[in-house]
Amino acid sequence: MAQDKILIIEDETSLVELLTYNLEREGYKVISATDGHEGLRKAQTHSPDLLILDLMLPGMSGLDVCRELRSSTRTAAILILMLTAKEEEVDQVVGFAMGADDYVTKPFSVKVLLQRIKVLLRRSRGNTATSEILEVAGIRIDKRAHEVSIGDSPLSLTPTEFRLLETMIKQPGRAFTRYDLMDATVGDTIVLERTIDVHIKSLRRKLGDLGHRIETVRGVGYRFREETETD
Ligand code: CA
Repeated sequence: MAQDKILIIEDETSLVELLTYNLEREGYKVISATDGHEGLRKAQTHSPDLLILDLMLPGMSGLDVCRELRSSTRTAAILILMLTAKEEEVDQVVGFAMGADDYVTKPFSVKVLLQRIKVLLRRSRGNTATSEILEVAGIRIDKRAHEVSIGDSPLSLTPTEFRLLETMIKQPGRAFTRYDLMDATVGDTIVLERTIDVHIKSLRRKLGDLGHRIETVRGVGYRFREETETD
């Protein structure tokens, strides 16, 4: 089995060493960079499976790195796990809007980080097994090509947003709890409930005029509404 390749972009060298040691022990191939520009170059040339990306970096911020990678089809599918400091709460949310797949707040336990990485990688592999096209309310999901479009316009969704949308659209009208959605998207409840809310917010934004189809079900979670109610 091919080794998953992980790129760490983090300016705290002691943290890079700690993560490199632990990731290599888990069998991953690890590359690292200590500033944003170098990190972006390595992400473009080494095509890692997953990126551990610090938000606050010298030269070029983690958000800019994320934005650059997501804007190019060659690097858009790289899984991105963002590292943030506690006081950067707002930036975390922005991080999701820019397309990070998950985040961990510093200080974090290495064990938790390793679990998150495992979950993200497992989930993305699971995505390649099926070939099917779903079309509901004008939204077309091509599971094989991993593409979502509205009319002729393709949407740029993160892997997590893709799975969330696919899960809800397969059963229009069904209310999903956050736990259901966590289960469907990451297969592991280690991801915080709040994470789902942030992904949904970003997904609604990307769906534009159709964003309201994803309804909040008070006290439960979310559902995708197929028909527009006239009230
Ligand atoms: Ca930093």
